[in-house]
Amino acid sequence: MKVAVIGAGTMGRGIAQTFAQCDQVEKVYLCDIELEYAEYGLKKIVSVFSNRIAKKKMTQQEAGKILSKIVTGTDEIATDPDLVVEAVIEDMEMKKKLFKHLQNEIVTNPDCIYASNTSSLSITEIGAGLKKPIVGMHFFNPAPVMKLVEVTAGLNTPDETVETVKEISATLGKTAVQVQESAGFVVNRLLIPMINEGIEVYSEGVSDITGIDNAMKLGCNHPMGPLELGDYIGLDVVLAIMNVLYEETGDSKYRPAQLLKKMVRGGHLGVKKGIGFYDYSDGGKVAVDLKKKSAAAPESK
Ligand code: NAD
Repeated sequence: MKVAVIGAGTMGRGIAQTFAQCDQVEKVYLCDIELEYAEYGLKKIVSVFSNRIAKKKMTQQEAGKILSKIVTGTDEIATDPDLVVEAVIEDMEMKKKLFKHLQNEIVTNPDCIYASNTSSLSITEIGAGLKKPIVGMHFFNPAPVMKLVEVTAGLNTPDETVETVKEISATLGKTAVQVQESAGFVVNRLLIPMINEGIEVYSEGVSDITGIDNAMKLGCNHPMGPLELGDYIGLDVVLAIMNVLYEETGDSKYRPAQLLKKMVRGGHLGVKKGIGFYDYSDGGKVAVDLKKKSAAAPESK
């Protein structure tokens, strides 16, 4: 099987690694808008493998075999995949445009399955007006580790496509859970509002960043607190999902926190930018005093 992963960011590179590790996969196209972004994604996979080799959890030969399957480039190289997994940013128009471009101008295999890793968007709408329907294939972060894949059918997705994607997920060692099309599906409908509420709790001064994260880790046995998890997912992704939940339902309980919007506007997106609720410079992780920051630099009206 040949797979094209479109978008080499946080999720795309993890998804590409997951497929490349599978014996049934012969080639993985890892694509991004610029070759250098795709190469950066591959570099991150190499660095994961280097750590594993150093810890003797993997041999050089095993790493080499997996990496040799990954070809990097722009979307134009994805000519003959059996499966496309789209992992570009959480934006409906961008996803629609991308699938149209792939189906009309790039992919030549008429049997190719087109899947989206969207966290919250309507599969039916992404596929509307396309030659071939879309199926939701939602991996979790980090994709090589997390066992769940949420599989979603849009109104026009054939049952056969859904079954094939469930089978592919099982081949990857994942458990597929089929969910109905609904904003945020299951996991993000529950998880993302919790992160948003953690940000509200911080804004109200109920506790500080580490206090909130420790409370949820120690009190609920969560492996990560809501603010560090928001940083890990990407605060832009968290905001995009909150916006989808809010717009799709019209329910004020999904209103994005003002501070979340401010963080995204200021480019403080979390781990991928080196700063969010925590500062990750020099490989560290130190809670940022956001109250002090806003007092020092008030927002202009
Ligand atoms: P990201 O910002 O880390 O990466 C997105 C990548 O897509 C960037 O490298 C960007 O250059 C690239 N891109 C944009 N337009 C493109 C195009 N036309 N062709 C090729 N590449 C393009 O985002 P992410 O966190 O990896 O999220 C990607 C998708 O996965 C989103 O739909 C998101 O909702 C979903 N998702 C995210 C997470 C998470 O924890 N971050 C988890 C599950 C699903």
